[in-house]
Amino acid sequence: MAITIKKNVETEGLIRRIEQMTGTDLSTCYQCKRCTSGCPVSKLAGSPPSEIMRRLHLKAGDELLDSEIVWMCVSCETCSARCPMGIDVAAVMDALRQLAREKKAAPQEGNVPLFNRAFLETVKFFGRTYDIAMIAAYKLGTRKFMDDTEKFPSMLKKRKIALLPSLKGDRKTTRRIFQKANERKEAER
Ligand code: SF4
Ligand code: SF4
Repeated sequence: MAITIKKNVETEGLIRRIEQMTGTDLSTCYQCKRCTSGCPVSKLAGSPPSEIMRRLHLKAGDELLDSEIVWMCVSCETCSARCPMGIDVAAVMDALRQLAREKKAAPQEGNVPLFNRAFLETVKFFGRTYDIAMIAAYKLGTRKFMDDTEKFPSMLKKRKIALLPSLKGDRKTTRRIFQKANERKEAER
């Protein structure tokens, strides 16, 4: 597959920043593509994970933040588990998402960043995910209150959605994790 890179000779590209953010040495990637072969979204996204790694090596700049996989990645961590060099590819995707938000890069389609935010805010508040609150936050953002509501009764009946939040969430620990992540983000700026 041909890879198009808008090379910026004046900068090192994104690779050093991503390495700082993930604490990973990306230069050890030798393009075996095991990350891509296990990735559940690699066939849907324009650039699979191994290509993202290659483009980072080739000094890709902010254009990489517009890649579909940045928001299609479901953080399953299969890529990290399969990498023979121990590269945390999923953390690279997280870092790209964080940078894409900071730099307001355009997501390809849909409201994935909004969904992402709604999910994280719910986890932060309840200590674990709580579907009803997440759906409410997402719908407030999209203002499409009636979309997909016909699926709600059957999901409720099949117990795919709980009406009340779980009491098993460790709110204190979760908030501490969010606080530390914020402190780290501030320190990186
Ligand atoms: S599995 Fe690891 S070494 Fe292989 S292409 Fe992916 S990141 Fe590179
Ligand atoms: S973490 Fe993301 S990039 Fe890695 S295998 Fe899962 S979906 Fe693909």
